[in-house]
Amino acid sequence: MKNILTIDVEEWYHGNYKSLESGLTYKESRVESNTDYILEKLSQYNANATFFILGEVAEKYPSLVRKIHSLGHEIGSHGYLHNLVYRYTKEEFIEDVKKSKLILEDILGTSIIGYRAPSWSVNEDIPWFYDSLENLGFLYSSSVFPRKTYLYGMDNTPRFSYKPNLNLSILEIPCTTAKVFFQKIPFSGGFYFRVLPYFLIKILHNLVNNEKKPALFYLHPREIDPYQPKLPLSSTFESFIHHYGINSCNKKFIKLLNTCSLTSIKDYFLDF
Ligand SMILES: [Zn+2]
Repeated sequence: MKNILTIDVEEWYHGNYKSLESGLTYKESRVESNTDYILEKLSQYNANATFFILGEVAEKYPSLVRKIHSLGHEIGSHGYLHNLVYRYTKEEFIEDVKKSKLILEDILGTSIIGYRAPSWSVNEDIPWFYDSLENLGFLYSSSVFPRKTYLYGMDNTPRFSYKPNLNLSILEIPCTTAKVFFQKIPFSGGFYFRVLPYFLIKILHNLVNNEKKPALFYLHPREIDPYQPKLPLSSTFESFIHHYGINSCNKKFIKLLNTCSLTSIKDYFLDF
């Protein structure tokens, strides 16, 4: 069955870590070459994806946005700055997302219908989140991590696509978790994809597909780049989360492309 692949297009230093030393001065850009590599692999394996592009990156690399789009992938917004949504006021959030949407639409001349919050930073304390997105013209969000972690996530949310507010038509398509002994287990991207051995990822993936549901995978361009600079994080825990498994992530990504059929959110949910 078809599964979903999403790529959050941002630089290697676009994290929201508490221990990131202020004033990061070394900001070598690696996003273009890393995204090019991902595009090459997707073409090679005939896969499609949704690319949630950070506004700041789109502004700097409009030709990259056009290239991703011309290859048949879906383009979504990842906000303009990589800031945590739960730290924004409603007005700041609208300003940030609107800016990113306009940049992408100006480059492509088509409307952008999907949004992903930086670092899955949606929680119970943002009642204005979905109606702001709907007012801006978004048809879906893919911003919920259905399990609480130290930085993000919510425990009491559905595991698969749902309407977060019945008065709105916007859909939430959360990150996938597998259900094992009543526990929701993340496996499909980021730290979890890097830390788990591939055979375990496959088992959890099969559990989800056995429920007749697609798994939504997510990847960042930096995760297939073992030569990226080391982010100066003063917390060992955060450094572990950010860097662990970088050397083997590309191999797992290729295995994923090799063993399942991947498409974009827009292509999967055909009624958009
Ligand atoms: Zn991000």
